[in-house]
Amino acid sequence: MTTPTPTARLIDGVALSQKLRTEVTQRVQALKSRGITPGLAVILVGENPASQVYVRNKVKGCLDCGFHSVLEKYDADMTEAALLARIDALNRDPAIHGILVQLPVPKQIDANKVIEAISPLKDVDGFHMVSAGALMTGMPGFWPCTPYGCMKMLESIGYDLRGKHAVVIGRSNIVGKPMALMLLQKNATVTICHSATADLKAMTLQADVIVAAVGKRNVLTADMVKPGAVVLDVGMNRDEAGKLCGDVDFAGVKNVAGYITPVPGGVGPMTITMLLVNTLEAAERTAL
Ligand code: NAP
Repeated sequence: MTTPTPTARLIDGVALSQKLRTEVTQRVQALKSRGITPGLAVILVGENPASQVYVRNKVKGCLDCGFHSVLEKYDADMTEAALLARIDALNRDPAIHGILVQLPVPKQIDANKVIEAISPLKDVDGFHMVSAGALMTGMPGFWPCTPYGCMKMLESIGYDLRGKHAVVIGRSNIVGKPMALMLLQKNATVTICHSATADLKAMTLQADVIVAAVGKRNVLTADMVKPGAVVLDVGMNRDEAGKLCGDVDFAGVKNVAGYITPVPGGVGPMTITMLLVNTLEAAERTAL
């Protein structure tokens, strides 16, 4: 049996992130020369190991680009009132342009209340209802970082979405739904699939662009992909050996797709990069 020749070109999220972060660093320098240092406050409640890694990478990204970075860590038994009070103080702190509360929060805290407590002007995660409404209506606002990163990846390959069929698998508020709206805004025809979709393969086979944002391995296999399609893999899962992998069967799909993002090294690094972009833009708006 001969080994199939890969058709897909890789969209390298690490290289694209580096390029974008260089641009961010230059814009930070320009802003600093006007007396403003972009500041991001990250709040972590509890000891979730994955959250600790994410937060560490966000702080490092900030420092590497010359941002002012504040990390506030609290015990898992922090009350909701205490967290809301901290957010209120950061909302009023002029040195802070972006506020991020790392999710999930412990069960005594209502995550929706936390998201809505952050000032929309500092909502650099793009999860606030005002941000969601701005995206929905095409008004300026902060876009959620992961789907925003996916759009940058499509832009990086010069992909014109006009008239193309995009299929998004997953409908969460932080990835699937905003992803669909962003693709729609760029004139794609968009289908959103989810756990109750009757025939996922029938949908994905029609797609020019597929975004997989489910959180399950091998949701998308080679037989579900139209030759030449662009495949963006948002999923972050572990295989039997504990190795990080996405939702897409990369080994199979790379022999059918036109472009594909790897995991790791694809959408993941782009998410933090877009957080830096949003924070920088929040700071730039204060300088207008
Ligand atoms: P989520 O809130 O759990 O949403 C998952 C979505 O997948 C839901 O809409 C669910 O449908 C749908 N779904 C579940 N099983 C399905 C199936 N068999 N077929 C089709 N759809 C199915 O997850 P999320 O927060 O959007 O995250 C999705 C994945 O992306 C996770 O692996 C997460 O770790 C990863 N992620 C990565 C980054 C990054 O930076 N790379 C950032 C955020 C998230 P229902 O709505 O019907 O339940």
